[in-house]
Amino acid sequence: MILQMRILSGKETAESIKKELEAEVLARIAAGKSRPHLAAILLGDDGASQTYVNAKVKACEHVGFLSTLVRMDSDTCEEELLEKVNELNNNPAIHGFIVQLPLPDHINEQHIIEAISPEKDVDGFHPINVGRMVLGLPCFLPATPYGILELLQRNQIATEGKHCVVIGRSHIVGSPMSILLARNSSPGNCTVTLAHSRTKNLKELTLQADIIIAAVGRPRFITADMVKEGAIIIDVGIHRIADASRKSGYRLIGDVDFDQVSAKVGAISPVPGGVGPMTIVALLKNTLQAAG
Ligand code: NAD
Repeated sequence: MILQMRILSGKETAESIKKELEAEVLARIAAGKSRPHLAAILLGDDGASQTYVNAKVKACEHVGFLSTLVRMDSDTCEEELLEKVNELNNNPAIHGFIVQLPLPDHINEQHIIEAISPEKDVDGFHPINVGRMVLGLPCFLPATPYGILELLQRNQIATEGKHCVVIGRSHIVGSPMSILLARNSSPGNCTVTLAHSRTKNLKELTLQADIIIAAVGRPRFITADMVKEGAIIIDVGIHRIADASRKSGYRLIGDVDFDQVSAKVGAISPVPGGVGPMTIVALLKNTLQAAG
C-alpha cells in the first residue's frame, strides 16, 4: 500500500488564523473596543531572539494589533528589568506582554516570569497560568504547544486514543505539550509518553508512536528508523546550519531528518514553515484573549 504523505503546513494554517484575527479586530473596532496591544521586552542583540521578536511584531501589524518593542541592553540588571515588567503590568494600554527568552545569565528567569501579571502573561509561563492549564481551567496556554494543538486540529489530525511520544520536557514545549495532549479534550485524549535525556529505550518508544512531537533541540535527531510507517510527526526544533548558497549564509532545519522521515510517515510539519508560524499566531490569539 502506498501511503499519501501530507505536509502539515504551519505557514498556511497560520495564514488562515491571521485572517480570522484580522476580522475579529475589525469587529472589535466596530463595537467601539480598542485594538489588542502586545508588548515585547528584548534584552541584548542575540540574532535568533531578534528574529523571533521581529516576527511577532510584524505579525501584530499584519492582523491590526498594536505592538510595542522595548529594547534593553544585555547588561541590564534584574532590578531594572523588574521595574520595566512592573511598568507594563500597570500600563492599561498594554493588554499582554512577553519577555523574550533566553535572558542573560546574570538574570534569574523565574524571578522575571513570576513578576509578570498573570492576566498579561500571554506566553503562559507564569505558575498561575501553568497551574490553571494543568487543571484544565481558562488560562493562557504556552504559545508553542497551543500552536501545535491548533495545527493538529485545523488539519483534522485525530488524537483521541492515539499514542503520542513527546520528546523533550522543557517548561515551554515538551512538558506542557504532554499535559495538553493527555487532557480529556479535543485535541487531546492521547496516551502520552514523555521522553527526555535520561530515557533509555527511546527508539523502542518512538516506534510505537502514532504521533511524535520532537522538541529535543538537536538537529536531525529523529531518523527514519525511529518512526513507524504512517506516523504523524511534529517537528518543533529550529537550528541554523551554514548554507553558502543563501544570502543570509544559513538555513533552518529541525529536530527531524525531514528528507528520510517524510518518505515514511503519514504527515509531517516542515522546518521552516511548521511550528514556528503557529507559535506566533498562538501568541496573537492569547493577546486577543487578554484584550477581553
Ligand atoms: P530545551 O533544550 O529546553 O529542552 C530539550 C529537551 O530535550 C530536554 O528536556 C531534554 O531532556 C531533551 N533531550 C535532550 N537530549 C535528548 C535525548 N538524547 N533523548 C531524549 N530527549 C533528549 O529545548 P526547548 O526549549 O524545549 O526547545 C527544543 C527545540 O525547539 C529547540 O531547537 C528550540 O529552538 C525549538 N523551539 C522552537 C519553537 C518554535 O516556535 N518552533 C519554540 C520553542 C523552541
